Amino acid sequence: KAAGRGTYRFFEPAMNAQMQARRGLEIDLRRAMALKQFDLAFQPQIQLESGDVTGFEALLRWNHPERGPVSPALFIPLAEEIGVIVGIGEWVLRTACREAARWPHPASIAVNLSPVQFRGGRLVETVTNVLAQTGLDPARLELEITEGALLENTDSVLDVLNGLRALGVKISMDDFGTGYSSLSYLQKFPFDKIKIDQSFVRGMEGNAECGAIVRAIARLGASLGMRTTAEGVETATQLDAIRAEGCTEVQGYLTGRPMPAAQAAALLSASPSTLPA
Ligand code: C2E
Ligand code: MG
Ligand code: MG
Ligand code: MG
Repeated sequence: KAAGRGTYRFFEPAMNAQMQARRGLEIDLRRAMALKQFDLAFQPQIQLESGDVTGFEALLRWNHPERGPVSPALFIPLAEEIGVIVGIGEWVLRTACREAARWPHPASIAVNLSPVQFRGGRLVETVTNVLAQTGLDPARLELEITEGALLENTDSVLDVLNGLRALGVKISMDDFGTGYSSLSYLQKFPFDKIKIDQSFVRGMEGNAECGAIVRAIARLGASLGMRTTAEGVETATQLDAIRAEGCTEVQGYLTGRPMPAAQAAALLSASPSTLPA
């Protein structure tokens, strides 16, 4: 018993520190919206054939006064766990649509949806309201979902996707190829766009397998009538490669980093913009 206690005492401080750090982040996250600590960055999406900007993806930023910028990879899973992602996600949607409605070109705006936003049965209503409030043409809104959204209650999620589609918005499958059954979902729902995960694009230089995978996804998209975006393109070599493999669009640091709203609007004023077919 004495040894057990000793072992316990040995682990306790580390466990407590970890739990306290998480608890601290959670408290801050619950307050972040009221304190206006969230912001959006906009990353350009480029049509490969013309080189024109087709639209932007809205990416959530949390600027914490003491912690500095907190990565979405860190706080979004926590926001999902404690449920605040529903409110935050609605704020992202409204802010992104309001911004896009003011752009000098009718470029598209892509917004990420968490699987949690599909529960509760209010997503179609929320999107309907935001479109009405902001006056954005539904055809300009693209909602990005990951396979995670389709893992649980697939049928009810498909109902929601069909409801969103009926509003006239577009639906993209994000991070394609990283899940367990991405292919089966392509057969269940006619996505407008497939976004090829960065890991395949990153691996194309010096890895023939990644090139073959990107080519296969681009062809699959073409035969299903879906556009294909290569994500995470950072080098000219990668750009040449994804062009050769037949992707229709590119989004990556090479063609544009996530930028503040004003800069995105200025980019649209300065360069031609092509509305996706
Ligand atoms: P995602 O939707 O796949 O977004 C693309 C991520 O890749 C963004 O990271 C973007 O900054 C990054 N990226 C783009 N081009 C490059 C590149 O050339 N190189 C590298 N290394 N990275 C690149 P970010 O902004 O950190 O977001 C990470 C993830 O967090 C997103 O992945 C998305 O899953 C999630 N996320 C971001 N904003 C939201 C949001 O408003 N709602 C929800 N539910 N999730 C969001
Ligand atoms: Mg995305
Ligand atoms: Mg992605
Ligand atoms: Mg991702």
